[in-house]
Amino acid sequence: MKTIATPSRTKEILEKFDLYAKKNYGQNFLIEQGIVRKIAQHAVISDHCVVIEIGPGIGALTQMLAEYAKHVIAFEIDERLPEVLAYSLQDCENVEVILKDFMEVDLNEITAKYPDDDVVIAANLPYYITTPILFKIFESNADIKRITVMMQKEVAERFNATVNSKDYNALSVITQYLTNVRQVVKVPRNVFNPKPNVDSSVLQFEFKKKESDIREELFFPLVKACFKQRRKTILNNFGEWLNDKEKAKIYLKDVGIDENRRAESCTLDEFIALYRRIEHDHICICED
Ligand code: SAM
Repeated sequence: MKTIATPSRTKEILEKFDLYAKKNYGQNFLIEQGIVRKIAQHAVISDHCVVIEIGPGIGALTQMLAEYAKHVIAFEIDERLPEVLAYSLQDCENVEVILKDFMEVDLNEITAKYPDDDVVIAANLPYYITTPILFKIFESNADIKRITVMMQKEVAERFNATVNSKDYNALSVITQYLTNVRQVVKVPRNVFNPKPNVDSSVLQFEFKKKESDIREELFFPLVKACFKQRRKTILNNFGEWLNDKEKAKIYLKDVGIDENRRAESCTLDEFIALYRRIEHDHICICED
């Protein structure tokens, strides 16, 4: 079987099908086998692993995932590509290519089909849609064991940011509430065709056990509101969201957060404490 993730094989496939990379689909094809193998090894955790791949492109990562996994289900939006994949992956019997926008996929339906396997997600993500894709997975509540995905380095830094750093924001807090996140591979820009303007990073997300008393439909807006205007104090942002600055002062004091701090200095545990403090009152407000 010929390795797809090399400069010469990629060029050969693109020329054979008269293909060009479509920018609006975020197409940058991997041409470095070593990187592709590392991603696959991090993504596939057992030999009874079913991998959902987002955007197989011409099959560079798919081919390597198929080597390690029991089964690969690859969702591709570009209608030119199923024909190409049927050719490039002709020797991979455990790959199923589906022409479909990943945003339309029902993840619960897939995980229900494989109750005895580890279902994981892997991708070299189309950069234009990184955050919506991850939040679709986070919010699906499907039984996904882990997510291993490549994204633009700057975006990865936001997901993975620690408190008090310049990249720490609502996205970091919410992601770290839902998952344990870590960087597993650094990827330079010169391993793609076409070469993007930025470096990339592969992050791995493992779902945490959920805190059963936290209603995400209240917790997530609270976190987002506290970061609404970065230069403002937490009192100002939080007070505006509550529409009651005096109450905001009391809540912050009750949980030991100085009202003059900014949200970027607050830990996940502090946000959870603030949530728990307001939750009872909020229920009363809603039910009145
Ligand atoms: N996996 C290939 C690789 O690593 O060489 C291609 C990665 S390329 C960065 C992103 C791929 O995602 C492209 O093939 C693109 O057509 C596909 N794509 C873009 N938006 C998509 C969507 N909403 N659903 C499924 N695939 C999508």
